[in-house]
Amino acid sequence: MPKFVYDFTEGNKDLKDLLGGKGANLAEMTNLGLPVPPGFTITTEACRGYLADGTLPAGLGDEIEAHLTELERRMGKRLGQADDPLLVSVRSGAKFSMPGMMETVLNIGLNDESVRGLAKQAGGNDRFAWDSYRRLIQMFGKTVLGIDGRFEQALEDLKGSRDDLDLTAADFQRLVEIYKGIVRDATGRDFPADPREQMRMAVEAVFESWNAPRAILYRRQERIPADLGTAVNICTMVFGNRGMDSGTGVAFTRDPGSGQQGIYGDYLQNAQGEDVVAGIRNTVPLQDLATIDPASYDELLAIMEKLENHYRDLCDIEFTIERGKLWMLQTRVGKRTAAAAFRIAVQLADQGLIDLDEAVTRCSGAQLAQLMFPRFDSNVKARKITTGMNASPGAAVGRAVFSSERAVELAARGEDVILVRRETNPEDLSGMIAANGILTSRGGKTSHAAVVARGMGKTCVCGAEELEIDVRAGRLTAPGGVVIEEGDVLSIDGTTGAVYLGEVPVVDSVVVEYFEGSADESDDLVRAVDRIMRHADQARVLGVRANADTGEDAARARRFGGGGIGLCRTEHMFLGERRRLVENLILAEGKDERQAALDALEPLQRADFEEIFTAMDGLPVTIRLIDPPLHEFLPDIVDLSVKVATGRGSDRDATLLEAVKRLHEQNPMLGLRGVRLGLVIPGLFAMQVRAIAEAARGRREQGGDPRPEIMIPLVGAVQELEQIREEAVGILRETGVEALVGTMIEVPRAALTAGQIAEAADFFSFGTNDLTQMTWAFSRDDVESSFFGKYLDQGIFGVSPFETIDRDGVGRLMRIAVEEGRRTRPDLKLGICGEHGGDPESVRFCHEVGLDYVSCSPFRIPVARLEAGRAAI
Ligand code: ADP
Ligand code: MG
Ligand code: MG
Repeated sequence: MPKFVYDFTEGNKDLKDLLGGKGANLAEMTNLGLPVPPGFTITTEACRGYLADGTLPAGLGDEIEAHLTELERRMGKRLGQADDPLLVSVRSGAKFSMPGMMETVLNIGLNDESVRGLAKQAGGNDRFAWDSYRRLIQMFGKTVLGIDGRFEQALEDLKGSRDDLDLTAADFQRLVEIYKGIVRDATGRDFPADPREQMRMAVEAVFESWNAPRAILYRRQERIPADLGTAVNICTMVFGNRGMDSGTGVAFTRDPGSGQQGIYGDYLQNAQGEDVVAGIRNTVPLQDLATIDPASYDELLAIMEKLENHYRDLCDIEFTIERGKLWMLQTRVGKRTAAAAFRIAVQLADQGLIDLDEAVTRCSGAQLAQLMFPRFDSNVKARKITTGMNASPGAAVGRAVFSSERAVELAARGEDVILVRRETNPEDLSGMIAANGILTSRGGKTSHAAVVARGMGKTCVCGAEELEIDVRAGRLTAPGGVVIEEGDVLSIDGTTGAVYLGEVPVVDSVVVEYFEGSADESDDLVRAVDRIMRHADQARVLGVRANADTGEDAARARRFGGGGIGLCRTEHMFLGERRRLVENLILAEGKDERQAALDALEPLQRADFEEIFTAMDGLPVTIRLIDPPLHEFLPDIVDLSVKVATGRGSDRDATLLEAVKRLHEQNPMLGLRGVRLGLVIPGLFAMQVRAIAEAARGRREQGGDPRPEIMIPLVGAVQELEQIREEAVGILRETGVEALVGTMIEVPRAALTAGQIAEAADFFSFGTNDLTQMTWAFSRDDVESSFFGKYLDQGIFGVSPFETIDRDGVGRLMRIAVEEGRRTRPDLKLGICGEHGGDPESVRFCHEVGLDYVSCSPFRIPVARLEAGRAAI
């Protein structure tokens, strides 16, 4: 039988799979000798067993009892003992932190008798004891018994206009009676007085909270696997609500928003548990603790330093002070914004706590992508209505909405919305996901809104206290009598905390300026990104190229660090005014007419290529010969039919209509396109190859260093490629230009016969858009808006296979092609040019299968460089 329960002294921080993040870190702190209230952790394995069978796994009950008995022995009192009760918290804690998503119950062990024992032990502090008891019933009622809202309402009613500090022992005692009534009323049973029963029920409720709808939604959003389960921590209670010499707080070892070193946190006197983050009363900045309780403050700072050196990273912590004694209740490596991630990684490297390799692994491509988002244009005068706390950076513009439901509704209609709330709670999650940004009037940087928004990379301004938010009326009032109602446009700046009326224009980020070479180099974020990027470039083995079709894109790609072009599409070179020339080609009757049409196109193509070779001088440029079905270059069949039928069409229109009808296909994506065009329309590919060769020769004559690579799309059989290759090689020889000739691997058959295809190819480039489309039989143009939503909801896949390479299917085809292609031709060059080339997870995969390079849109190049570096470390 597995071991299901670990004392805090038995675990350590590396056991997160088994003990959850919270349990593993409580154990780690215990072993570091920090003041952690004693307790033990029930493993995630026990949770998985419970969820699978609907009952506690055999032996678990006994094991819990044994650990509880040992805890009682150690503390010298029994759980809920009438004259001197041991109280515990029952806390959820999964492997990945899911802030506020799951459940915790405090003060387990109180009942009508032990509440008096607790008061006596606390020197007759009745208020504290009854406050603790009512909290137990409230949390237990909500979490374990599923009673919603009624406790809070009863508390509000009792409080009236008073602050919670004004409530007396008698008030709380009365509240306990009311609460017990609510429990009886809602469940038909009395609140369980037996401490052990309380604990058992709470443990099961925590297990079950793993499958609460909001936990499921959060996991999906954060891509946390659904089958991990949560651990449960049983922890001796310590009390921050024993008086003004007690309190509870949260802190970060560095600013999780900016990464700046310093002391960041919130503290609340005479309070328990969630009071700090729930915005019940206004917290004070952690620095104030230096005057409130200097000894605890100093101890806390020393512990924070110790933790940071130990974890070698930013830590966030929860602590409680009970009558001047400091207790550590939680720590973990803290979430942070993208900018903070880069700054902190470089700071820690400078401090010698980590090396640069590790610094690079701590900055993700997704975070870099976030830093490349635009920000508000500071040159535009916008009407600032207030400033709140800069909780999660970015620039968000949208219509104000005051409820999560409305946020979801409007967003579904394609509106940008800003979710405006006094404070958020886990029920607001769907609205937060739907919104562009989040604005609250209460709560600090550690409030629910701030923590969750940072986790999602969503812009958030919180604690904008000057705003009066009336959620019911759907209205917010700002200083100076500015009134904003649902639908009015707001702009919020999560980097500065500013809130503006109306739409403020946005400009490039400094990080983009850095890649463009125009940034202020003294900016510390720019310096941090520079350090990380340089090291990633040194580490990576994957090349990074761009998908670029114009000289302008090619030039940007180069500035962004692209080492060439992996995909230059040629079809746009047939659009606009050139359509007519393509029509001529399609309508051509006989060899001469066709050649004339091709001759007219060639110089235009040639000029396009010259521009790109100039921008990418000295670097490889892979040019894909024309790929789409020809009808895409012809007028719309319906328009043309109407025109001809109503007699408004010319003779040419009538002939064109014939051609359109002739070329019409039921499944054009599986029809006459790619290499098939080259084989069916004589001279078309030859014209393109000649344009490439001539452009290259021209550049060389001007002293340039063009490096063309010619790529044939949609090949499924080596025979197709051989014919085109022969023709191309002939033209290259004639022009005296050297170029590789290779193919895309985008048809499953090509991957499966890669060994043969490599006979005729100097390089492969995986066209993973088509390869995914054809492997899954998913039309990329249709499925994302039709049934993909359902597929994602039902967990058929966690992420769209068009976004991240499907390792098991498409990835397997790639592996086969890499292996068999290289077996035929050891010097075969291998790249990828589908959208996946800029997706962090897919870049990692490309590294693993041993490609030579990835190619992606110019804007994604920095992300791919960073991820390629991370993959190699
Ligand atoms: P979460 O995962 O949502 O942070 P926690 O398990 O950390 O939930 O608990 C919620 C709150 O209760 C936190 O503020 C925590 O510090 C407090 N708390 C938990 N256990 C204890 C305890 N044994 N004594 C005092 N406060 C506790
Ligand atoms: Mg916590
Ligand atoms: Mg394709």
